[in-house]
Amino acid sequence: MKKLFVISGSSGVGKGTVIKEFLKRHPGFKLSVSCTTRGIRAGEVHGENYFFLSKEEFKKCIENEEFLEWAEFSGNHYGTKKSFVEECLKRGDNLILEIDTKGALNVKKLMPDAVLIFIAPPSMEELESRLRGRHTETEEAIQKRLASIKLEIENSKKFDHIVVNDTVENAVKALEEIMI
Ligand code: 5GP
Repeated sequence: MKKLFVISGSSGVGKGTVIKEFLKRHPGFKLSVSCTTRGIRAGEVHGENYFFLSKEEFKKCIENEEFLEWAEFSGNHYGTKKSFVEECLKRGDNLILEIDTKGALNVKKLMPDAVLIFIAPPSMEELESRLRGRHTETEEAIQKRLASIKLEIENSKKFDHIVVNDTVENAVKALEEIMI
């Protein structure tokens, strides 16, 4: 029986890098492609990073109950299509969803066998200094991010596993122990 894994983590924690490294080493795992209404970023490909939908298209999918879960995040909508997950599991892929903690807890309600993994920063202080080290955001924006990170950490108490991302290598090893 192939498995569904849901990986969440606060922004700035480097979960993208950890997941990418894991996928490189384990080709039997697939990363789900979500739908979003946010604009496409340089280097992103429709159908690979996301399915980029208009607000109207996204609304239609909600009305037609096509999403397993969906959420609003920073003013944009993100959702996981039921059909995408069903097809992957039918094909026999191990599937990873990289979604926010609220979405993850909703998936767990619908699919209790899903394994929820939270990627945590080594400490709040470390994360704060990483965010400040970027020098790209205002104090207000940083405070907003820190507040949402605290909420994510609160939600993560209901997760099955917590992986601390002190180094990419350690975090990938911890994922391997859980997922393989
Ligand atoms: P970004 O815009 O940086 O690609 O993603 C922003 C946030 O949306 C990340 O925390 C990401 O995990 C989350 N996200 C991406 N796809 C989905 C989805 O399908 N559902 C939910 N709930 N969150 C998602």
